Amino acid sequence: MCDDCITRQRVYCGEPELAEMIQKYFNCQLMCGYRTAREAFMDTVEIYVRINPQTPSWLAPKKVAEILNPNLVL
Ligand SMILES: [Zn+2]
Repeated sequence: MCDDCITRQRVYCGEPELAEMIQKYFNCQLMCGYRTAREAFMDTVEIYVRINPQTPSWLAPKKVAEILNPNLVL
């Protein structure tokens, strides 16, 4: 995540929850122009696994998709 987004997050949100952090990370990758949607998603999955090492790697993309779009049913 870029310095801009990290700073904004600290100022307005304090300690973010995991779901919020994942959403912000994904949005930063997209909105700050670093990645395509697919790359941003893969990156976000990687971060999720780093934060939750107990999550099996096959399950992580599903978890991230659910966080990014809670209405999505996979
Ligand atoms: Zn950013």
